[in-house]
Amino acid sequence: MIHVVHHPAYVTEAPARSTYRWGKNGGIRDLLRAQGEAVAWTEPALIPRAWLEAVHDPDYVAEVLEARVPPEKTRRTGFPITEQVAFRAQAVPGGTWTAAMLALEHGFAANTAGGSHHALANTGAGYCVFNDLAVAAVRLVEQNVVARVAIVDCDVHQGDGTAALTAGRHDIVTYSIHAEKNFPARKARSTLDVGLADGVDDDGYLAELEATLVPFLDEHRPDIILYQAGVDPFVEDRLGRLAVTREGLIARETLIADIALARGVPLASTVGGGYGEDVMAIAQRHVDAILTLGERLSHRNPARIEA
Ligand SMILES: [Zn+2]
Repeated sequence: MIHVVHHPAYVTEAPARSTYRWGKNGGIRDLLRAQGEAVAWTEPALIPRAWLEAVHDPDYVAEVLEARVPPEKTRRTGFPITEQVAFRAQAVPGGTWTAAMLALEHGFAANTAGGSHHALANTGAGYCVFNDLAVAAVRLVEQNVVARVAIVDCDVHQGDGTAALTAGRHDIVTYSIHAEKNFPARKARSTLDVGLADGVDDDGYLAELEATLVPFLDEHRPDIILYQAGVDPFVEDRLGRLAVTREGLIARETLIADIALARGVPLASTVGGGYGEDVMAIAQRHVDAILTLGERLSHRNPARIEA
């Protein structure tokens, strides 16, 4: 049984003038529904405003929730913040937090949205409104659910917002492996950054991931991993610069799962970047990730364990 967190508000109409592929969340939902009984669904509550304000500037939170984000921030985000987008922006961090809580119980859970790693304290950026990873991590440690969270970010773009929002904390550590020449031009400082050259292939990517993530986790010993499983390192991605194949991405999830499993660390995944014309192909790559992680990490036979 793979625990999946999904909110109907994730699937929205594209606001006018948006280049972001909003349809992929519906595609992810439909592909996972086709898995039938193998998937257990949870609908998250909206994240309480106080937890948004624990990470984001309260003025920016108000701008979003009241759908009055000024034009310069709208441009930086990449789409207008309508009331519908604002509602979705409260559902997504609720989903990442809920996935983390389910992962602590079941070994693994996936949020079908999220990974909004570019959002900063006082503005959205790069198609991200609120930083669900930072919001969920801060709530987990401040409610003493866990002592330390590792945010592991494998999106092809650096997790700059996550790094900035959690800088200086000992209870949240951040790892980002990304294409060094890709957006954002000005990088933030994660606890550990791994910048890759353009064109890195499956073997190069997986070797660098293992060589850096294993010592990172062994040094920081997190109680849970929040994993941004962006699929934009894919060779044909419109905004990637790497050359990782579909098989390479699946091998990445197997490696991540095995590294977590070997250390007994539960893992909650989010989606992340994935850009191109074929929305269903992108959705399929996200579902590949969720199913690969879930099959390896979800506790076996929970009924027998309880008995
Ligand atoms: Zn990305």
